[in-house]
Amino acid sequence: MSVAEPYRAWWFDQALRRETPDRPEPLQEAIDCDVCIVGGGYTGLWTAILIKEADPGRRVVVIEQELCGSGASGANGGCMLTLATKYLSLIKFYGQSEAARLVRASEQAVFEIRDFARKHAIDCDLRVDGALYMATNQAQVGGLDVVLGALDEAAINSWDEMTPAQASTVAGTQDLLEAHFSKAAGSVQPALLVRGLARVARSMGVVIHEDTSMRRLEKGPEPRVITEHGSVKATKVVLAVNAWIATLMPRFRRTITLVSSDMGITRPCPELLERIGLDHGASVCDGRIFVHYYHATSDGRLLLGKGGNTFAYGSRMIRSFFEPSTYEWQVRGAVDRFFPELRDTPLEACWNGPSDRSTTGLPFFGRLPDHPGVLYGFGYSGNGVTQSLLGGKILRSLALGLDDEWSRSGFTGGPRGKFPPEPIRWTGAMLVRNGIRRKEAAEDAGRTASRLDTCLARFAQAAGKADSG
Ligand SMILES: Cc1cc2nc3c(=O)[nH]c(=O)nc-3n(C[C@H](O)[C@H](O)[C@H](O)COP(=O)(O)OP(=O)(O)OC[C@H]3O[C@@H](n4cnc5c(N)ncnc54)[C@H](O)[C@@H]3O)c2cc1C
Repeated sequence: MSVAEPYRAWWFDQALRRETPDRPEPLQEAIDCDVCIVGGGYTGLWTAILIKEADPGRRVVVIEQELCGSGASGANGGCMLTLATKYLSLIKFYGQSEAARLVRASEQAVFEIRDFARKHAIDCDLRVDGALYMATNQAQVGGLDVVLGALDEAAINSWDEMTPAQASTVAGTQDLLEAHFSKAAGSVQPALLVRGLARVARSMGVVIHEDTSMRRLEKGPEPRVITEHGSVKATKVVLAVNAWIATLMPRFRRTITLVSSDMGITRPCPELLERIGLDHGASVCDGRIFVHYYHATSDGRLLLGKGGNTFAYGSRMIRSFFEPSTYEWQVRGAVDRFFPELRDTPLEACWNGPSDRSTTGLPFFGRLPDHPGVLYGFGYSGNGVTQSLLGGKILRSLALGLDDEWSRSGFTGGPRGKFPPEPIRWTGAMLVRNGIRRKEAAEDAGRTASRLDTCLARFAQAAGKADSG
């Protein structure tokens, strides 16, 4: 689908207003380069930057169909989370040692992104103030016990338990029964980060053509990306198109499912937020499958989101992902429930966007089996703000042919498993979604969920729940 007259997520709109806008320079000719990256979000831009850092002489071109950051990277919740809570899935798929390495690397990535932003003067409200995971009803209590036990055993547990009283001063809500806090996390204004990455990439010599859409990919020993008015011939092509992948390449249609995350941001209310303890940049998540996530911004707004409302049939891009959220009532309800003090504070904006959920809840990277010059990476499953730096390291190493811990990472094995074909998948997703909704509503009301709904919810849990978006 075309996003020629786009609806802009609030963050993205704010970021563009701060810039002296560079006019997009659509590609108008046939060019050559070493690495052509399709997609100007975090994944594509980190890959470009890391390739230039490793080898400044490589000619790197990024093509982006709209403006850099117009996808999930400019619209997400801005929660900087890690892979720690996915440790058990990581062990299951990649073994203990790679799992531990990935957890540590993802925690370190939070600090690396902060340091990179500081070094390059990317002013993006990035605060490494931690993350708090909380249980907001009895059914969520103990939800992290097994994974935290395993992290402890491996001596990589960065999480401390807090009493509900301590935790409520961080979370700004009394509506919690149990909580754990890690310092290795934080939050960011996501669109300012991605626009900053684009600026830095350009300053390093990366050529960026915005308003340039890949129409077709000619595979072969030297693949060629065909755009509307030009083409790019490259030794390596990196597909970093996230949720658009299934629309572009049917072979990936069953490897991800597109599910919305809806979020809202309040008008500034710094005094109220300070009064309830939300005068910091820590991210907070509850223990639902379709998780609530939130954080305060440094100009005194509350951002709150919730995943799991809209599923795209066939994983194709749908228009509603680029329109204001139709679930404002739900976001409003969550704000009122967690923060009665904010009942009279209006929401400034409410939007949504598509997350690319993989069957494992983990991202995957690789080369097209029949065309090793074409690389890809996606499937962050709502946890991509921090993880996309790891994605950039993997794609850098694959593109440069390096033999290192990133090119050998478990994540490079491509997708693990497929979703069922349509119409079974969409129908199943609706059944599971509605079962989860009923289960979580029952648990909020202190009732036991029905057996059927508990069973349905297990399907989503098996795929690993999203941490945020
Ligand atoms: C609403 C929402 C909330 C989220 N909240 C969080 C959160 O709080 N924390 C977290 O960690 N993660 C969150 N995520 C996930 C996170 O935003 C993503 O995982 C991350 O941004 C992925 O980055 P990316 O570069 O791979 O994809 P994108 O940012 O989507 O970039 C892909 C780019 O490819 C471009 N493109 C597509 N097709 C073409 C083509 N044919 N030619 C040229 N360009 C093309 C698109 O325009 C887009 O700019 C959220 C996601 C959503 C949607």
